Parts: sequence; C-alpha cells; structure tokens
Amino acid sequence: MVALPEINRHLTHTVRVGTVTVGGGAPVVVQSMTNTDTADVDATVRQVRELAQAGSEIVRMTVNNDAAAAAVPHVRDRLMALGVDVPLAGCFHYNGHKLLHDHPACAEALAKYRINPGNVGFREKRDRQFEMIVERAIEYRKPVRIGVNWGSLDQELAQTLMDENATLAEPKPSDHVMREALVRSALDSAGKAEAIGLAPDRIILSAKISRAPDLIAVYRELARRSRYALHLGLTEAGMGAKGIVATTSALAPLLLEGIGDTIRASLTPRPGEARVVEVQVCQEVLQSLGLRAFVPQVTACPGCGRTTSTFFQELADRIEGYLKTQMPIWKQRYPGVEEMNVAVMGCIVNGPGESKHADIGISLPGTGEQPAAPVFIDGEKRLTLRGERIAEEFQTLVEDYVAKRFAGDSDRSAAS
Ligand code: SF4
Repeated sequence: MVALPEINRHLTHTVRVGTVTVGGGAPVVVQSMTNTDTADVDATVRQVRELAQAGSEIVRMTVNNDAAAAAVPHVRDRLMALGVDVPLAGCFHYNGHKLLHDHPACAEALAKYRINPGNVGFREKRDRQFEMIVERAIEYRKPVRIGVNWGSLDQELAQTLMDENATLAEPKPSDHVMREALVRSALDSAGKAEAIGLAPDRIILSAKISRAPDLIAVYRELARRSRYALHLGLTEAGMGAKGIVATTSALAPLLLEGIGDTIRASLTPRPGEARVVEVQVCQEVLQSLGLRAFVPQVTACPGCGRTTSTFFQELADRIEGYLKTQMPIWKQRYPGVEEMNVAVMGCIVNGPGESKHADIGISLPGTGEQPAAPVFIDGEKRLTLRGERIAEEFQTLVEDYVAKRFAGDSDRSAAS
C-alpha cells in the first residue's frame, strides 16, 4: 500500500470549545450553522440536532436580538435533554456587547462567541463594544472567534491601507491591499483582545472571502504571521455543484499544507434541500484528503459504453446508502469501520483491479461478459455471484465482512 504523504500541521494554540478541541494538532473539526430563527426554539433544536447527528461537531446560530438571546439557554437545555451535547457558538453583529450583557444565561450557555470586527459597532463606540464582548468572554471563560469577512471589512482600515499604498513608488494592485486589510483586521483585533486579557488559546481567527485564490493567499499569510487556531471557510460559496466545488477548491490546498483547525462549508441550500449537506461536504473533503475518516468509502466507476445497464450504479447507490444508515450502530460496535473501502465496478476492464485494492469489492459483468460478478475480499477473489439477487447477496457479504473484520473485543468475547 502506498503511504499518504505526511501533512505537517501548522502549529496553533489549542482552544477548547465546550467538549471539542480546536487547534494544537487536534483533528480538523467540522462545524455548521443553523438557518432557523434562533428565537424559534423548536425549529432550532430540531435543526441543531440534525446537524449534530450528521456529524457537525460545533453548531453556530445567529444571536441577533433579545428574543434569540433569551432562547439560547432553552435551546441548549432541550438539546442536552435529548442527549445532544454539541457545543453551540453564537454569532453576534452590532449588538453583541448588549445581548451578552443583558442575557447572562445566553453568555453562559454558548460554548463560543463569534464576532466580526467590521460589525462590532461604529466609530468611537466600536472599541468599547469590542472590549465589552471580550470582557464577557473572559468572565464566562469562553473562546472567541474573530471572524473577518470580505463583505463587512473594517472600512477605516481598508482606506488607510489604500492611502498608504497610493504613496508607494510602485503601488500594489488593489486586490493585494484588500487581502492585506483582511489579514491585518484579524490580527490587529486578536492583538486587542489579548491586550484586554483574552488568552491566545481562547482565540480562533477566520478571514472569509468568496474567491478561492484570495482565500488561500489570506490564510497562508495568517498562518505565517500567527499561531492562532484557524477556522477555514469560503464565504457565500453558492448552491449545488458550484458551491461544493468552490469550497473544496479553496479548502483542499490549505488543508494539505496543514493550515486549518476547523472548517465550514457555507453552502446555500436549494429550496427544500437538507441543511446537513454542508456537514457532509466538510466530511467528504477531510476524508478525500485522508485527514479524517467518517464513513466507509464506496469506490464506483463512472460507467461507460461497456455497461449494459445502470445496475452497477444502483448497486453502488444502494451500498453507499446502506453503509451510511448502518454507521450510527457500527460506529459503536465496530471501531475502525469508517476506514473501510468498498468497490462497486461496472466491468472487467478496471473492475477486478479496483476491487482487489478495496477491502471488499465486486466487479459486475459488462457488455458481452459472462453474467457473473466476482467478489474480492482483502485483495483475493473469494466467490462469484450470479442471478437476480446479486445486490442482496453482496450487501450480506459486506455485513459479514464488517462483523468479522471490525468486531471489538467485547463482541469477539461474546461470540466465543
Ligand atoms: S470499469 Fe468498465 S464499465 Fe466502469 S468505466 Fe471502466 S471500462 Fe467502463
């Protein structure tokens, strides 16, 4: 087996967010954000639970007014009663200083506060309001994400840097100056928070932009100039394939360079689309890069003119669905099963080879081939399936393989 290249993680401070560790070399954490009205406790609890069950390890929600702030502790309590102890992050803009002051139960219930230095307040009030939020974080021993965003960049800072650039003998392009403004806004704000008394291991930085090349450049700079834990995300990534590809293109190069301690995919759901897609995308990115394993992977060929039907696509889909639905049980019973690889291939050209590389694989017959489907287990051909029940029989073989290969000690002793 070819070893994956070692990824040297950028060494950042270790930040505790509730029960979750972010940074310091800990596995990259998946997070997500609700789109319910936070004041609607039922809807928010339902969505946070869905996101957590899908694998979101931190869930953020907007805290935009008194009703939302008052709802936060109820959301937390209801989730705890349901056995969902996912850390909740509160997203504050403009009035965070006041909400955190007026709603101490909210300040206590949240595991992390997210603030945007560009939206903390205006002019002379800005510094005092930033200070008030940081003071609440210190009082309640909470970490703060200082999240700068391209769309709400500190305009005074941007203008100052633009003016300085204009005086240079060879001014830099405006894109370059704006990227520097993002980096400076994040680092300067983190420096101010430290000066107020917030420890560096209570600070997470993000600087989100909607274009992948800009995002990559900004995060490389943040990683070069600081040791703060970094939250990665391409902001306003968009819908469907575009949003997923844009997010992956932005995050993958950074993650492969060891940059990024927690990630979010800011996808716009299509009407009726599940919010959990953003969690699945984060997991797929991390698993595809070999950074973490969440569910067994199905390797399936794309199919071509050599296949006589869509049977192998249906089988691949069926097996993938089966693996996902089994995971909540398997995770407890079969440690390591998330690293399993299953191949479902369409014909003899690549079928046997790919199946041999998988833990268990099947090569279905293509056009003109004998109606037989050899099954490979741990690299060796073990049997051949035929007839109408190939799908059911292969699923049973996968189930048996998992039970034998990944049974924990307790299962083994119970079976003996
Ligand atoms: S394995 Fe066979 S069916 Fe699948 S893409 Fe390759 S040639 Fe086509």
